[in-house]
Amino acid sequence: MGAFEAVRGFFQGSAERLGLEPEMREMLSRPYRELAVQVRVPMDDGSLAVFPGYRVQYNGARGPYKGGVRFHPQVTLDEIRCFAALMTWKTALLDLPFGGGKGGVRVDPKLLSEAELERLSRRFMHAVGHLVGPTRDVMAPDVNTDARVMGWMFDQYSRHVGWHPEIITGKPLALGGSLGRDAATGRGALVCLDRLVREWGWSREETRVVVQGFGNAGSWFARLADEWGYRVIGISDSKGAVVNPGGLEPHMVLAHKRETGSVAGFYGGETLEADELLGVEADVIVPAALEESIRADNVDRIRAKVILEVANYPVTPEAEQVLLGRGVTVVPDILSSAGGVVVSYLEWAQNTQHERWREQEVNDRLAEMMTAATEAVITRSERYEVTLREAAYDIAVARVAEAERARGYW
Ligand code: NAD
Repeated sequence: MGAFEAVRGFFQGSAERLGLEPEMREMLSRPYRELAVQVRVPMDDGSLAVFPGYRVQYNGARGPYKGGVRFHPQVTLDEIRCFAALMTWKTALLDLPFGGGKGGVRVDPKLLSEAELERLSRRFMHAVGHLVGPTRDVMAPDVNTDARVMGWMFDQYSRHVGWHPEIITGKPLALGGSLGRDAATGRGALVCLDRLVREWGWSREETRVVVQGFGNAGSWFARLADEWGYRVIGISDSKGAVVNPGGLEPHMVLAHKRETGSVAGFYGGETLEADELLGVEADVIVPAALEESIRADNVDRIRAKVILEVANYPVTPEAEQVLLGRGVTVVPDILSSAGGVVVSYLEWAQNTQHERWREQEVNDRLAEMMTAATEAVITRSERYEVTLREAAYDIAVARVAEAERARGYW
C-alpha cells in the first residue's frame, strides 16, 4: 500500500464514523491541486542537473495551504500527497487557521555543494512561486531543509514580489524567523507525551524513552526529554544506534554526532546497528526519522508500551493493527508531531503583525496549544471508545468538513 493510500484509510475511517456526506468524502479524499515541476540546477562543474519537484495543496478550506518542503533522494508524488493530507488534518486538529500542503524535490542534498544547494532552493521557489503567498500557501522546513534554505527561498520570492516574510516559516531570525522554531517539533511532542504520562499516572524518571532519528526533531526531543527528567536510553541515526539502560546524555550524544557524523561509537553507551534500536526494552519509542519505519516486517521486535509518532506516518496501518492487538498505545503524528506547524503559525502571526515575541512567550503558547489538543484527543477517545488516532482524525476531519460546508459549494 502506498503512503497516501494508507493515510487516506485513516480519513475514510473517520468519514465513516462521522457519517460524512458522499460529496464531502469525495472532496476530502484527494488533493485539491498538485504541481509537478522540473528544478533545473546549474552545477559547479558547468553541467546542468534536472531534479523532479512537487508542491501538493491538499485542502485550503480553513486557511492558506501550509506545509514543509523536503529534499530527499526518495521523494515521490505519492509521498508528498500523503504528507499534504497529514498537514490538513494536523492544522485542523490544532485549530490553526491553515489548510494542508507539502513539497519536495527528489535529490540527494548531501551530494551538493553549498552553492548548488542554494541554487536548488531558489530554483524550486522559482518553479512553484506562483502558487505561494502569505494568504495562499506558506512553506516551511522538513527533512534536509533548514533555516538557511528558507532564507534563500524567501529571498527568491521577495525579488519578484517584495518583502513578505509571511510566505515562509522556519526562516533565520534575521529575516523574521521566530525564537523557538528550531526546537518546536521536539518540544511539542514532549508536551504531548508529558500530558499523557500524567494521564496514565507514570513518573518522568521511570519512563524510559528511545529515539529513532537524531536530526532536528529527534535531537531536540531527546535533549528536552532529558532536561525534563525522562530517561533517554537509546538514540539512533541512519548510521547506527547507541544504547545505555542507565540513561544517555543526549546533549553529549549530539556533540559526538557533530564531531564524528553519527551517534554510533558514543563512549557513554553500547553501539548497535540502527535497526536494532526498535527491539530495545523501553516504555516509549519515538520514531523521529522517516515514514514507514515501523512496518509489518519489524513490528514484532517492539517491546515498548507506547509509540509517540514524531516523524510523519512512521507506523503503517498493518503494524498499527499488530500493536493495538498487543495493547500498545500509538500517539498519532497529526497530534504528536504538530509542534513545528504550531510555531510556524506563531511565526506567521508575528510576521503578519510586524511583531517579535520573546522565546518564553512562544514556548508558552506552544505548550498551551499542544496540551489543549492532547486533552481534546484523550477526552474524545474515552468518550467514544476509539483509539487516539481515530479520535484525532475525527476532530480534525469534522473541522475541515464544517469549514467546507460553511464556504458553500458554488
Ligand atoms: P532531519 O533530516 O533533521 O533528521 C532525520 C534523522 O533521521 C537524521 O538523524 C537521520 O540520520 C535519521 N535517519 C534516517 N534514516 C534512519 C534510520 N533508518 N534509522 C534511524 N535514523 C534514521 O529531519 P527532521 O526535520 O528531524 O524530520 C524527521 C521526521 O519528523 C520526518 O518524518 C519529518 O517529516 C517529521 N517532522 C519534522 C518537523 C520539523 O519541524 N522538522 C515537523 C513535523 C514532522
